[in-house]
Amino acid sequence: MEFTVETADRLTTVGITERVREALENTAVDNGIATVFVEHTTAALLVQEDEPRLRGDLESFISGLVSDEGHAHDELDGNADSHLRAALFGPSVTVPLVDGELALGRWQSIFLLECDGPRTRRVSVRVAGP
Ligand code: ZN
Repeated sequence: MEFTVETADRLTTVGITERVREALENTAVDNGIATVFVEHTTAALLVQEDEPRLRGDLESFISGLVSDEGHAHDELDGNADSHLRAALFGPSVTVPLVDGELALGRWQSIFLLECDGPRTRRVSVRVAGP
């Protein structure tokens, strides 16, 4: 199962929990693990609380971890900072699947972290049973 996400800013978080739930609606596996994977090198996935101020804090924090300039890869296409920020989080998250539902904690949501937007990002969801 795949879906695409449109991102609006260079560095931003986009909530994708409902999209992942939709992708899981037709799966034959009710119990196991769901692996959500973004198929890019300048975007990442993470699980965090969906609270607007926290999302702003997170975006500022991630931006500040990596300088915008001075990286070798910039000689090629000018987006080394995007790759480095995405590398901190990686391309996938794994969530338990229980009775056909994502077993997220009460305050947990799945986010796509865009580090080089605006772009169209492709996300896949794969389920493995016990
Ligand atoms: Zn690049």
